[in-house]
Amino acid sequence: MRINIAIDGPAGAGKSTIAKLFARKHGLVYVDTGAMYRAMAYYFLSHEIAPEDEQAIAAACEGVVITISYEDGEQQVFLNGENVTGIIRGEAVGKMASATSVYPAVRKKLLELQRQLAKKEDVVMDGRDIGTCVLPDARIKIYLTASPKTRAKRRFDELTAKGVACNLTEIEHDMIDRDNRDMNRKEAPLRKAEDAVLIDSSALTMEEVIAAIEEICRGCREYMHREEERGKTVL
Ligand code: C5P
Repeated sequence: MRINIAIDGPAGAGKSTIAKLFARKHGLVYVDTGAMYRAMAYYFLSHEIAPEDEQAIAAACEGVVITISYEDGEQQVFLNGENVTGIIRGEAVGKMASATSVYPAVRKKLLELQRQLAKKEDVVMDGRDIGTCVLPDARIKIYLTASPKTRAKRRFDELTAKGVACNLTEIEHDMIDRDNRDMNRKEAPLRKAEDAVLIDSSALTMEEVIAAIEEICRGCREYMHREEERGKTVL
């Protein structure tokens, strides 16, 4: 039986950093579903398809093949055979991903791939609809959030550290816009699954968030059994 951990939450809550570290520490595979939506968005952008043109987007989906592989434990995303992992991280691709992930054709394309990955390995999967839609039976579900100001500041610091010029107020506006779209769309909106545990990371360090998730895992018999089998005493 697979032990899957679903982590959902708004942009900039720290999901991917936490999920990646947690997966590495506990021998799970990290699956970043946002990167898949970004790869699709990158395809639409590079084919100059407008985000409002649902028909063109649905038609374009047929020409897209997204695949995932791992290099030194790092997820690599391939778009029609090309590794696009590095070029999909910018704000423009993120915005396009949010605008186009509302369409059923886009979501359908990725849902099966995500479920297949979780069937093959024990995963920590992060996204917007993992606990509610992709893996409703995940043993552990976390809804990770933080205040918009904290999330915007984190994104600002991240971009500034990379030497990308940006504006904090603009980032905060974009983030709130993105959250609204993700939470209010018809298909698989972002929301906390009823059985998910909410963690607000506004005043927490990364280590404290990981410790909080480990505490939740301790309450899961199957998870503890898996750790025992791995001979781990970290929990
Ligand atoms: O997490 P990240 O910022 O990379 O995600 C980009 C966009 O992809 C999100 O704003 C959201 O619209 C979409 N997404 C989604 N469902 C997921 C993961 C991401 O709709 N499971």
